[in-house]
Amino acid sequence: MPDPRLRVLALYPDLMNIYADRGNLLLLERRCAWRGIGFSLLGAGLGDLLDPEAADLYYIGGGQDRDQRLCAYDLAEHKGEALHEAAARGAVVLAVCGGYQLLGRSYQLAGETLPGVGLLDCNTVRTEDGAVLGSGDRLIGNVAIEVQLERMAEPQVLAGFENHGGRTHLGPAARPLGKVLRGLGNNGNDGLEGGRAGKVIGTYLHGPLLPKNVWFADWLIATAIGADEPLAPLDDRLERLAHLEARRAAGI
Ligand code: GLN
Repeated sequence: MPDPRLRVLALYPDLMNIYADRGNLLLLERRCAWRGIGFSLLGAGLGDLLDPEAADLYYIGGGQDRDQRLCAYDLAEHKGEALHEAAARGAVVLAVCGGYQLLGRSYQLAGETLPGVGLLDCNTVRTEDGAVLGSGDRLIGNVAIEVQLERMAEPQVLAGFENHGGRTHLGPAARPLGKVLRGLGNNGNDGLEGGRAGKVIGTYLHGPLLPKNVWFADWLIATAIGADEPLAPLDDRLERLAHLEARRAAGI
């Protein structure tokens, strides 16, 4: 495989993949190929052990509560420790929606609290005053957030789509990924979206996220492979239109 190369490991690629979150992986693969950067993709499902050295970027997409429940216990039993080790050695961890919720400390459903990996200092609650939120209480819609990342000269916009019943609150050890410009974000109240701790990043943005925000995909690739120089530019005319359309849908 050519060097540099990006090694990606997708956690639960079958169970945690709603709103075409798998598209994020395809996009990473294409943008690497177009630049002559090697790319490999591994998957880890229920019961599999995780190699903390196997990847530069660990990825987990969104899912339904039912599937998340299976993954939460599997993570706790088989993979949580290795994911901590991977993050500690500097791997990027990107988690979308249900995956983001699982990176936190816990996900509280009616009658059951699912364990989280604890890579992000946040808690997610699906209930209020002990009652299950009705389906009308989901946080749904187009969303745009403002994000300032290392090595970016100025803040950038991430645009996407959110649909979650869980409300996430960050603790003091987590930073938000961004501040909400339009949409609801972590909980519809505090104006924050997503969570970060170093290279561990969680967000509620589907879309899929990366095809609509290729600047962020490139930031992830560069960070994961430890690129010293900016990645070679690509012909992003279509990607820019997709980004502008997602922003327009969100109202900015
Ligand atoms: N099941 C979770 C929730 O409803 C996550 C949903 C998702 O990944 N879109 O909050």
